Amino acid sequence: MSALLRAVALVLGVLAVGLVLAQGAPRNDDGTFRNNYPHATTSFGDFLRWQSERSDVPEPAGGWRTPTATPDLAALRGPAKTPSVTWIGHATVLLRLGGLNILVDPIFSARASPVAFAGPKRIAPLPIDIADLPPIDVVLITHNHYDHLDEASIRRLAATPAGSPRFVVPLGVKAWFDDIGIGRVDEVDWWQDVRVGAAAITFVPVQHWSRRNLLDRDRTLWGGWSIAAGGLRVVHLGDTGYSNDLRDIGERLGPFDLALIPIGAYSPRWFMQPKHLDVDDAIQARADLRARRAIGIHWGTFPMADDPPDEPPKILARERERAGLAQDAFDVMMIGETRPIEETNETKRRPDANAAATSAR
Ligand code: ZN
Ligand code: ZN
Repeated sequence: MSALLRAVALVLGVLAVGLVLAQGAPRNDDGTFRNNYPHATTSFGDFLRWQSERSDVPEPAGGWRTPTATPDLAALRGPAKTPSVTWIGHATVLLRLGGLNILVDPIFSARASPVAFAGPKRIAPLPIDIADLPPIDVVLITHNHYDHLDEASIRRLAATPAGSPRFVVPLGVKAWFDDIGIGRVDEVDWWQDVRVGAAAITFVPVQHWSRRNLLDRDRTLWGGWSIAAGGLRVVHLGDTGYSNDLRDIGERLGPFDLALIPIGAYSPRWFMQPKHLDVDDAIQARADLRARRAIGIHWGTFPMADDPPDEPPKILARERERAGLAQDAFDVMMIGETRPIEETNETKRRPDANAAATSAR
């Protein structure tokens, strides 16, 4: 082979590897994003059918009671002694990891809605307000649905006296921050990394969708976050249906010391199945992700669907037993509770446990 041919072959090879590694989110001809794997779809007509068939879950006397802990606010505001996770409710979690305070999908409002007078209402008290938080280094947003991207909470976080945190958001969501005058925003595609301090934070594909108004369906991306810091690996899935993406994440970035997996908003299945895991799906998701421990989130806070708010942990306890899993393999927390994140045997054995994920940007 001539030197020229060899050079051409080398360049083509590098390009091919680059294409495989890039694997950003696929797009339709109109520029909207789509999921990686084929799945059932639901139309606006299906949405109307669901709404017309919905019957309100009867509320027990005294209201719903999602177990709530009284947080130790002094400890929370002080320096982190050990890596920890705090469940603030719904998909909102505070991760203290690798010397960083990382907040995912913050919603501190009374409703998950564009308006203050309607929409899913918080049924469990807010355990921790924004003023109670330690200085937040980075806020991660999984997608633009109102229960994950809350304008009042973002504005308050950006205005905290310690200074605005950095925001890392899916492709297309930065424009929303620009509109409300908030800077320090990075937007990323699937499998793209950002470095914050010693943490490598990777946006990972999940099967979901996006919408903020009537005209913007799937115009911005959705996903989950893998965070590697301080020798630990944590993944937060945001909202997702069950798909091969979960196995892809496990293969590329697992095993994980902790997976935060949504376990609520699954009913009715005929409508929710493509976009929300049920509890059985969530147990399979934990295995696919290669997560030693999982914690169920996205339940008991803002009822978004027809499953009773207290149902997911009951089904989880039953199905966990059926699957032969220990309680700490897949558990739920109390709202406001903090738990340590421990390095698990699997990740200890991994030679690159302390190394950052793939390429830094
Ligand atoms: Zn969603
Ligand atoms: Zn959600």
